[in-house]
Formats: sequence, structure tokens, C-alpha cells
Amino acid sequence: MNRIIKCKACPVGCELTIYKDQLSPTEYTVEGNSCGRGIEFGIKEVTEPSRVLTGRVLLKNAAMKHLPVKTTGVIPKDKIDDCLEILKTTEVTAPIKKGDLIIENILGLGVDVIAARRVK
Ligand code: SF4
Repeated sequence: MNRIIKCKACPVGCELTIYKDQLSPTEYTVEGNSCGRGIEFGIKEVTEPSRVLTGRVLLKNAAMKHLPVKTTGVIPKDKIDDCLEILKTTEVTAPIKKGDLIIENILGLGVDVIAARRVK
């Protein structure tokens, strides 16, 4: 079965078609990519899909009740719910600078959760 996805490895956003291909060393063929990164992205997307996670944590000492956060890298799609559960119970206190470390190495996945905005 073919999968058609948008490459998110750069802002160009090529439309990739990924085919199962027994003759290829990777077992997949990718078409529609303008560069080699698209091949890597396309194969990873069908074999181990992952995303940069955005969410929010509880915020004290500020007018708003939640602080938007994001991961510093991609995490596997099947870990997203577990990460969101951790974010739900995480509380930080303002002031916060954009990029401040909120959770180090979440779930041991090798990526951190950082503040996505500044709060006085
Ligand atoms: S295939 Fe290359 S040029 Fe196209 S979106 Fe992906 S990284 Fe960008």
C-alpha cells in the first residue's frame, strides 16, 4: 500500500509517496522528494512515526493559568499520550523565559520540554 505524506523536514513541504519495495535495501521507495532528507523522513514516518510535541503545563504566579511548552526534538507517536499525562501534572512558577527547561529528558527519550513563550 502507498502512503502519501507531506515532508516536514524543511519548510518546502514536498509531497512524498512511499511504496513498500522488497528490492530496496530499506524495503521502501520514496518519490516526490527534492532532496535526500525527504527519503529519510518518509521512511521514518512509515516505520517509526514521530512528532515534535506541543502542549501546556500548569503555571503559578502569573495572570494565565497555563504555559505553552514544546519538545526540543521529535518523540515517537506512541509515547505522545504518556508525555501529555506528565505535562498535565507539571507545575511551574513565573517568571519564565522562552526556552527555559521545563522537563529534562522526558520519559528518557533524549529530548527536553522547554517553555514556548515568556511569562513575566
Ligand atoms: S524532500 Fe527535501 S526539499 Fe522537500 S520538504 Fe523534504 S527536506 Fe525539504
